Amino acid sequence: MLSGRRYLLGLTADQAEMCEEFGNICRAVWNTALEQRREYRRRGTWTNYVPQAAELAEAKKEHPWLTTAPSHVLQQTLRDLERACREHGTFKARWRSKARWSPSFRFPSGNLITVERLGRKWGRAKLPKLGWVRFRWSRPLDGAVRSATVSRKGGRWFVSFLVDDQAVTPEQHAMPATAVGVDRGIATAAVTSDGTFHDRPFIRHGEAERYRRLQQRLARSKKGSANRHKTIRAMGRIMNRVTDRRADFCAYTANRLATRNALVVLEDLKTRNMTASASGTLDQPGQYVAQKRGLNRAILYKGWHRLELALTNAARYTGTAMVKVNPAYTSQRCSACGLVTEGNRESQAVFVCKAAGCGHRDHADVNAAKNIKAAGLAVSACGDLGGGRSVKQEPVSRATGRTPS
Ligand SMILES: [Zn+2]
Repeated sequence: MLSGRRYLLGLTADQAEMCEEFGNICRAVWNTALEQRREYRRRGTWTNYVPQAAELAEAKKEHPWLTTAPSHVLQQTLRDLERACREHGTFKARWRSKARWSPSFRFPSGNLITVERLGRKWGRAKLPKLGWVRFRWSRPLDGAVRSATVSRKGGRWFVSFLVDDQAVTPEQHAMPATAVGVDRGIATAAVTSDGTFHDRPFIRHGEAERYRRLQQRLARSKKGSANRHKTIRAMGRIMNRVTDRRADFCAYTANRLATRNALVVLEDLKTRNMTASASGTLDQPGQYVAQKRGLNRAILYKGWHRLELALTNAARYTGTAMVKVNPAYTSQRCSACGLVTEGNRESQAVFVCKAAGCGHRDHADVNAAKNIKAAGLAVSACGDLGGGRSVKQEPVSRATGRTPS
């Protein structure tokens, strides 16, 4: 199956400059093509990829700077735009602004990409126009390269390969009839129905303090000044560390859960929306995260979403089924007798059932996770496992041109 592998690039100064340039060209092509699509729509007509790609080829004769970037890469930009317009609508697809868009571009032809291992720590890939680029060999490639995406996150450049690893999703999980419920919370990132707490601090106390001071400095700095730029870079470095820790945690936890369980049940939280509203800011330190509490929450919400993506990905390899259940009452219901009342919580952390003759006592998050598991088992027993709920769907790919978080 198709799977993404991301590596930290060690670009030369020239290569980094070229990548920056490719990114600028892709941004210009995206924005121009988007404006054209909107103009057509305003006049009551439309255009799509095919004529736009032809016009791009024409435009190269007039604007030689366009030829600096590989033409495949620019065609991919137009294809991405087509997909964005189809998914979100021509007038809702976003502009790529210099300040907000992190450069990212894709080389679509795996047969034009050569990857070699150089030693224990380094590998290199030959990419059209860029030539050989070195990258940290932080994990095995394990498959044939289908495409490569180069992207910048903060000050660091990455290459993501989409590889075909020839694996197939098992028909049946290695441990059938195993199931777990996962409660994603604020106090602990994830608590499972077997009573395990999965957590690690994503941001250290000192880092959060420093981040807050940098935010204040940013608010006082002048737009476009060198100081402002420096502050943004410093904030980005902190967030890079947070992102790395979160990615590690999610991948590890997801693998553990998927390996040991044929069914993983999650609450159906709108994590994507939560992430957007709480943290539109995290990857864009130029914007303002109001409070430290807001910051922590934003980091957590992102972790919840990431964990879900990581589970979906891990489940493809283990044959684990994933079910999402309605989050209503999972924290107020007694997992032993089923009674739902408001007063069941002795404290934030402790659940005590008020029903006569029950008196079930549990950690509040574990109790919730047990309810989530029970709800998931009920759903899967009804045979409602198919279609959109199933895990055998698209790869969670980091090579789709979206910036990974
Ligand atoms: Zn009870």
